[in-house]
Amino acid sequence: MTTTPVQQHPPTKAAVVDCQDLFKIYKRADLEVVALRGLDLQVQAGEVIAVVGASGSGKTTLLNILAGLDRPSAGRILVGERDLLTMTERDLVTYRRWEVGFVWQTVSRNLLPYLTALDNVALPMALVGKEDAERKARAAELLATLGLADKAHRYPSQLSGGEQQRVSIAVALANRPLLVLADEPTGELDTHTAAEVFTGLRSVSEKYGTTVIVVTHYPGVARYVDRVVQIRDGRLSMEIVMRPTFRGEGQRELEEYVLVDAAGRLQLPEEQLRRLRLQGRVIVETQGDKMVIRPAE
Ligand code: ADP
Ligand code: MG
Repeated sequence: MTTTPVQQHPPTKAAVVDCQDLFKIYKRADLEVVALRGLDLQVQAGEVIAVVGASGSGKTTLLNILAGLDRPSAGRILVGERDLLTMTERDLVTYRRWEVGFVWQTVSRNLLPYLTALDNVALPMALVGKEDAERKARAAELLATLGLADKAHRYPSQLSGGEQQRVSIAVALANRPLLVLADEPTGELDTHTAAEVFTGLRSVSEKYGTTVIVVTHYPGVARYVDRVVQIRDGRLSMEIVMRPTFRGEGQRELEEYVLVDAAGRLQLPEEQLRRLRLQGRVIVETQGDKMVIRPAE
């Protein structure tokens, strides 16, 4: 009698974000720009992911759609229970106010200059009718989590760029959103300060179980997130995951994967394309569970 080895799968957590075959087409007077072309992305509850990719690859388009600021053209996009494709305008307003938080690259878009850090964090709670005492307590707790307890009464102009962005993270978390989105939040900061901002995003995610998606060009970001996904031409092309190694305590190493989307499409790394001079037709051979791709002569 043969025994079949039982595959152990970790219990699958519910995906907070589920994008399938997502398209966004911008129509201008005379031309159409396809910003997203069949993007698939699932993000689990509490996951922190970084989105990287060249300028114009569709990163901001994806974030704006997830933020409820823009509508996709086709496909499927669920955030929690919400279907962002078919949601009414009214529900979108509720969604933006309660369920999603946003950190922009430019501080002036995140914080009001004439309010202290504490009052900036309390403001989104006032907009949804929270009691004064509750607002103050939550704002103070968030600032403490981000290492800013002693700066609560300062105005944005009295804070460094990194501190301002950490206050912005607190603002984004004020109404306990399911999802926090950040579009190049460290784009205007130096490397050391950027690391503090990523540490801040990580600690609020760990403390409150918030799912975080951050678009970034920061080269060291993989150390601060669970997963890095790369977008190319409006589609996911590669994923980098940190895996524990057996070389030593606490050692982790990066593993890179090429992604195949739900429709079976894959984007080969640019280096492979160049090396094999793949253009137009290729020959795909399957040898057992291996697949070989080579140029057609
Ligand atoms: P990224 O953030 O990765 O730099 P974007 O999502 O901003 O890329 O842009 C993706 C593509 O969509 C680009 O070609 C850009 O020019 C185009 N695009 C973005 N927003 C608009 C818009 N509002 N109208 C027309 N085209 C747009
Ligand atoms: Mg962008």
